[in-house]
This record gives sequence, structure tokens and C-alpha cells, in this order.
Amino acid sequence: MSFEALGLHVNIIRALTDSGYTKPTAVQEQAIPAAIEGRDLMVSSQTGSGKTAAFMLPALHKLATAEVVTYDNTKTPNQERQSARSRGDRPRFQAAKPKMLVLTPTRELALQVTTATDKYSAYSRRIKAVSILGGMPYPKQMQLLSRNPEILVATPGRLIDHMESGKIDFSELQMLVLDEADRMLDMGFIDDIEKIVAATPPTRQTMLFSATLDGVVGNMAKRITTEPLVIQIAGSASKHENIQQRVHFVDDLSHKNRMLDHLLRDVSVDQAVVFTATKRDADSIADRLNIAGFAAAALHGDMHQGARNRTLDALRRGQVRVLVATDVAARGIDVPGITHVFNYDLPKFPEDYVHRIGRTGRAGRKGLAVSLVNHAESMHVKRIERFTKQLIPVDVIEGFEPKKSPAPSRSAARKPNGWKPGDNRKSGGGAYGNNKPGQRSFSKPAGTSTGNGAGPRKEGGGYKGNRSNDSGARRTFGDY
Ligand code: AMP
Repeated sequence: MSFEALGLHVNIIRALTDSGYTKPTAVQEQAIPAAIEGRDLMVSSQTGSGKTAAFMLPALHKLATAEVVTYDNTKTPNQERQSARSRGDRPRFQAAKPKMLVLTPTRELALQVTTATDKYSAYSRRIKAVSILGGMPYPKQMQLLSRNPEILVATPGRLIDHMESGKIDFSELQMLVLDEADRMLDMGFIDDIEKIVAATPPTRQTMLFSATLDGVVGNMAKRITTEPLVIQIAGSASKHENIQQRVHFVDDLSHKNRMLDHLLRDVSVDQAVVFTATKRDADSIADRLNIAGFAAAALHGDMHQGARNRTLDALRRGQVRVLVATDVAARGIDVPGITHVFNYDLPKFPEDYVHRIGRTGRAGRKGLAVSLVNHAESMHVKRIERFTKQLIPVDVIEGFEPKKSPAPSRSAARKPNGWKPGDNRKSGGGAYGNNKPGQRSFSKPAGTSTGNGAGPRKEGGGYKGNRSNDSGARRTFGDY
């Protein structure tokens, strides 16, 4: 299947050729023709699957081929103001009337969607897209809105501010996209979303994208769409099959820090994201890594948008090699050079684990996701395994063996297929040596034993007794 066969406008095809896209991804193949027809969509697909183009390409096609473009017949707000001035009227702000609205959970994702839109619409000169984001100065946003863009990409909170002050009028809105809808609900945007949806015409086309269509998000999706086409993408991108995962057990913070430094020095690391639970840790670990000679930078929600953008630009340009980030800030980061993700702390929710590891292995590349876990956190790993329906192999690095071995049944490391590990890593040996490769699982103990009789809980208890500066003692899941 080619992009031409999907019926896209020639200007869009040209832009896709420039971007190096040769054929549509699975989600694009299914979503684009239906969206061009005007159908509502409910799509379950992960970031990395090509979902942005799946909704933006048909939208651009529709905007480019629309027979009557309101702009051609009306004055832009700037022209309107000039006429008002020449009539001697007091100039006033004319509300922007977008044709398409994309709602995203975070500023980073909004900027990414806007950048992708600019790329896809490079030859569609009439079409403008702007981002409306929290953290961006109001005068700048007023200036963007005064251009009356066809496409608004926004985070819900700031959009509502502009709606309430009459700066945006949705009466001409044709398309509404909810991107990463599950995440928006997780972040507590449900009321804002309901308010925004209620302000749009019922005749609009609605396209909802989410990692899952179950539960609350599925109910909301059904409420706001009309006879939607449901698309479930279970491709390798959504299962992250191109991303190898492993767990390394650590005894305490000092062990964890030493291991992180060691892993970051592996020759296979091009760029890496290190995830921390708190903003403070993101700052302090970035500082520590810089002192240790890594080109590291922190990224978290306490930073001003300008600083966040500068950091992301430096990451994209390769000037930052190690990004130390919290969940919210790192969402939507799409940098092909990210070969590794390190979970310095495990995420609070299993869904976040999936989003985190999706920062590597972009557009089908290989990636490696490593979680540094203390023994008391075994249950959290198990929860992640249940959620992803994938077992995460436990691995040991020579010279970095944990003092305590995990439960025997979950200790054999499965060698990651096709991944070229660093020279000094060994699998299934050392403290794990009694186990057969491929046997280990948190979820399903294989029944083999080293004879020490230690199960996961027992071991967690024993471990508690001898930790001094253990991160498990300092950082419990209640603190996240
Ligand atoms: P997304 O899931 O929208 O975040 O896209 C993930 C990555 O895949 C981005 O870097 C896109 O530029 C890239 N991408 C999307 N569609 C295609 C395609 N058809 N061919 C090649 N790369 C693509």
C-alpha cells in the first residue's frame, strides 16, 4: 500500500517524500481512508506507531481540497482590525475560528504535533498550525491566534482560558482530535475535555487516539464520537517488540548510581533518557552526571517552557547525550538517536512504563530499556509485566552483582534477541547462575531453586534488615 493509493493530495505526498516516508504504517493505512471519508475514529495505538500522521494527513488533505475555504471569502482578523482602524473604530480582537483542534496532554506532545504538521503541510501554503500551551506568554499566543490558523494544537487548560476570554470561536470547527486521550484523563483533564467538546459543533468529525480503549477512556470515546470506526493496532510498535527490556537488581543508591554510570558508558549508547520519580532527583542526577563527564540535562515540569524547549532542541541536535527526566516532561519526546531508556526509579503506573520505554526504538529502530530495581520493588515489576503481558528478563553485569540474589525462580536471564549488549555484561551467571536462560519470570515461578528457600517477600524482608542508605527505604511508592 502506498500513500498515493490512500488518496492523499499531491502536495502532501510531496512532503511525505521529502520526509523519507515510503509507505504508510499500519495505523495510517487503516485510519487515513476512513478519516478522508469523514468517519469518526476510535484508535488504540501507541506513540511511535505513526499516529500523528494517521490523523493529520487526512485532515490536511480535507483542508487542502475543501471547495470553500472560509478564509478566501472573509477578512483575516488582522485585515478586520485594519479596516476597523480605517473606519475610526476601536480595534478589537477578533476570535480565531480554527477548522481543526488537536488536544494533547502535554506541551511537548503539542509542539511535536505542530512540528509534524508543518512538515506535512510544507507544500500546502494556505494551511497554518499553531500551538496553544500553558507556560507560553499570553502576548505571543494572542499574536498566533490573530493569524486565524486553520489548525490549533493545544493542551486543555490554556485552551479553556482563551475560550473563556472569547479569543477562540469553535463555530467553524470541522475536526477534533484527542491525542493520547488516556493520558489526558490520567492527568485529570476530563472536565476540561468535556467543556471543550461541548463548545464544538455536533457536526464535527472526532478522532480519538489512546493507548487503550478500555474503561473510562473507552466510555468517553463512545460519548463523543458518532458511529466510529474502531481501529486496534496490535503491531510491533504498540507491543514495543523492537525494544529489549531488562531489569538489574541494585542493593542501594550507591550501587544504583555506579551501575547507571557504567551502563551509560556502554559503547552502544548513543543517546539515553534516564527517568526519575521526582523533579529534584532529575536535577541532582543530571548535575552528578555532568560532573562525571556526561553531556546531561534535566527535563521536568518545574522548568519554564523556554528552558524545556532549549533542552529538547539540544537533545535533538545531539548536544545532550543523557536526558534526565520525569514522566510528564518526557512524554511525546521523539528523538531517533535515543538508543536507551533507564528507569532510575520505576514509574508509579504501569502505563507510564510503556510510555517511557517508547522514547527509544522510534520509527522501528532498536532500543534497550533498563530498569534499576531494588529488591523491595519486585512487586512493581510484576505489575508492569502483567500490564504489558511481557516478561522482563533479569540480568547481571559482571562486577555489579547485587549482594542479594532475587528469588531463584525469577533469576535466569533471557538473552535479548538480536541486541548487542556491552562486552562486559553476562547473562544468567553470577548470582543467577543456577537458572536456565529463558526460565525466569516474575509472574510465573519456574519452580527451580538454589536451595536458599528465599521467596520474593522473604527476601524483601531480609533485605530491609541490612540496608543503610537503601533507596527502597527512602523512596516508597507513596512518595511519588
Ligand atoms: P508518532 O507515532 O506519530 O509519534 O510517530 C513516530 C515516528 O514515526 C515519528 O518520528 C514519525 O516521523 C515517524 N513516522 C510516522 N509515519 C511514518 C511513515 N509512514 N514512515 C516512516 N516514518 C514514519
